[in-house]
Amino acid sequence: MFRRIAIIGGGAASASLLGELLDRPLSPPLQVDWYTGGTPRGRGVAYATASPRHLLNVRAASMGLYSSRPGSFLEFAQQRDQDVGGKDFLPRRLYGDYLAAEIDQAVAHGKAHGHDVTLIPADAEAVIPETGGVTVMHGGQTRRMDAAVLAIGALPPQTLDGVEPAALESGRYVLDPWQLLPHPEPAVPPRHVLLIGSGLTAADTVVELAARWPGTRFTLISVHGRWPGRHPVEVSAPRGGHDGLIDSLRAQPEVRRWLRLLREAAAEEGDWRSVVDSLRPHTSGLWQGLPTAQRARFLRHARSAWERARHRLPPQVAATLDELQQSGRIELHGGRMRSVIQGAGDQLRVIFSHGGAVHELEADMVIQTTGLATDARRTSHPLLSQLRDDAHVMPDELGLGLLATPEGHLKHAGGHWPHLFTLGSLLRGTLWECTALPEIRQQARTIAQRLLAA
Ligand SMILES: Cc1cc2nc3c(=O)[nH]c(=O)nc-3n(C[C@H](O)[C@H](O)[C@H](O)COP(=O)(O)OP(=O)(O)OC[C@H]3O[C@@H](n4cnc5c(N)ncnc54)[C@H](O)[C@@H]3O)c2cc1C
Repeated sequence: MFRRIAIIGGGAASASLLGELLDRPLSPPLQVDWYTGGTPRGRGVAYATASPRHLLNVRAASMGLYSSRPGSFLEFAQQRDQDVGGKDFLPRRLYGDYLAAEIDQAVAHGKAHGHDVTLIPADAEAVIPETGGVTVMHGGQTRRMDAAVLAIGALPPQTLDGVEPAALESGRYVLDPWQLLPHPEPAVPPRHVLLIGSGLTAADTVVELAARWPGTRFTLISVHGRWPGRHPVEVSAPRGGHDGLIDSLRAQPEVRRWLRLLREAAAEEGDWRSVVDSLRPHTSGLWQGLPTAQRARFLRHARSAWERARHRLPPQVAATLDELQQSGRIELHGGRMRSVIQGAGDQLRVIFSHGGAVHELEADMVIQTTGLATDARRTSHPLLSQLRDDAHVMPDELGLGLLATPEGHLKHAGGHWPHLFTLGSLLRGTLWECTALPEIRQQARTIAQRLLAA
């Protein structure tokens, strides 16, 4: 058993792992250092929002922090409002309150069981894995632990190719919408805002800003010019088992064939959503069986269609987008951004191509809403850069996080570390399906079992 454990990262993945580790007495007891970084602990990027318009995209019944109690978030919500049902999509800030309550409880249980828990509200700056232990550094302090778990979530967004430095420095190009949204209102809101990307982050951004800036017009540009799919208000039950489909996919790991089989299954089922949902428990296994060249093919040809089908809009958000589009305040265009340069006056000019033609649009503000960044090959995240540059970890060759075993052990050139783990977004190259709570809580449980059994 590893007795001294560092958890690095202040989000829900860390909170889940913390609770898994502390929920029983152990002899000898644990010493857990939790580096929570800059955000309020547990909330991370997703649940730090204060806006009532930012909703969970998973139904309340499935958002429990622990795989042994998947319904615990629903119970928490129903204690505050009896009318809440398991199929509802609730505000993410309520989920942040639930996380805070679960963390307080986990720490209290841990202390009652004799464990020593130290919360360190700072970033871990360096991690050095060695034989038999891991050294963690922050603020000039060095702490020697038996094991460490990296749960740092997605990486800071990287500027898209083609954004000229002058545009970036103008203050009108917003690289990270989650840095913009908590800011106070500008004296004069922009008249025209252009968003690059039209996924869930774009939907959250535009729904919020449209309410705050009633005179502003929004244009979105994305390669396919489409919103994510929508969750139906009612839960749709799959009509039949999909074991045959899963077996066929597994038998021939080839993207073109997979797409054909999925299209056929969706046509037969009558609802593509239930086919996509039935794949979810098998996605990681299927991904692991896919050769690298086929994974690259999937990323080129099927990624955005998969993301739209898998990560869907809550019905309330979809309805707001419909209203905004019908009233002419939002326009959504297909197109690939080529460059963003300084335009006339204070405007930025966005040049994009679509159907062989080149188009230009001017906007007072451009926001990059292209989704979660996980490319560890060129990230500037200080801790990850240190681990990568010191060759303690290896980036996934397709830019999907870090190389790791399916159980979360990080790999190095000679094998994998027995005492250095990761979970959440950085496992994308290993598991593909790894960023939502139902998967994260299972990863946290697996890592806790490994830490306590080793
Ligand atoms: C806007 C948004 C909405 C989402 N909505 C849902 C949803 O409705 N349902 C769902 O299941 N999933 C949702 N997700 C997916 C989300 O990834 C997971 O639910 C979960 O929040 C991920 O938690 P995490 O701890 O892995 O990462 P994060 O929440 O990103 O937390 C990582 C934390 O680590 C900190 N950190 C980084 N570096 C260091 C360091 N060196 N030292 C210490 N701390 C560090 C960061 O500051 C951050 O606070 C959403 C994601 C986003 C971005």
